[in-house]
Amino acid sequence: MGGLGSGGHNSKGRRIVEGQYRLDASDLKRRGLCRTGNISHLYWKGSDGAPGPSLKAIGGEDAITLVYSWKRGDGPWQQHEERVALRHHERHFGGCETYFLCPRCACTVKRLYGGGVRYLCRTCHNLVHASTQERPGNRATRKNQKLRRKLGAEIGLGDCIGPKPKGMHRKTFERISEQIHAAEAEVYDDMLVLLNRMQRRTGNHSARISGSQNRGDFWR
Ligand SMILES: [Zn+2]
Repeated sequence: MGGLGSGGHNSKGRRIVEGQYRLDASDLKRRGLCRTGNISHLYWKGSDGAPGPSLKAIGGEDAITLVYSWKRGDGPWQQHEERVALRHHERHFGGCETYFLCPRCACTVKRLYGGGVRYLCRTCHNLVHASTQERPGNRATRKNQKLRRKLGAEIGLGDCIGPKPKGMHRKTFERISEQIHAAEAEVYDDMLVLLNRMQRRTGNHSARISGSQNRGDFWR
């Protein structure tokens, strides 16, 4: 058994959702853990591929019980057992969706995170999404690359997008091309924001860059 939740951090030192070990209510349901008496052992891997924490989940209709060991720093291993209530909500189009009630705040959530001794919701662990902390330019760059892959175009900025892939409708090609141009404009604009910020720091206000002139020059 392992400790829980080493996790990743963003540039401001806040722990990010994406770096934490997590429990997904739908996943546990698929494993049959909404049936009383069913037992499943869950294992995680660390970011380096090494074995991470593990736990035993004991199923139930209204609640599952999590059993695991944890330790703080070099302290001794301690056994922890936590009962987590479940809620099942009917879906509009049939079937039902399973949720946890966070053991601390009782809010209804799809996922719990092992960011400490207990598995709790994102809010209780004060976790943030990596994407909410990253620059708009990074998001736009990823979007641009994804769209370019769809067209089989070269991955870059300002490079040729065409020709239209065989079998693709012209309208689709034009729509994706438009989206690529929009994403690239976002990347350039964010780059300008960064450049202006750097210039303000160095006190060179006279050379402030305005607008989107010579956009391609920053990236070639
Ligand atoms: Zn909570």
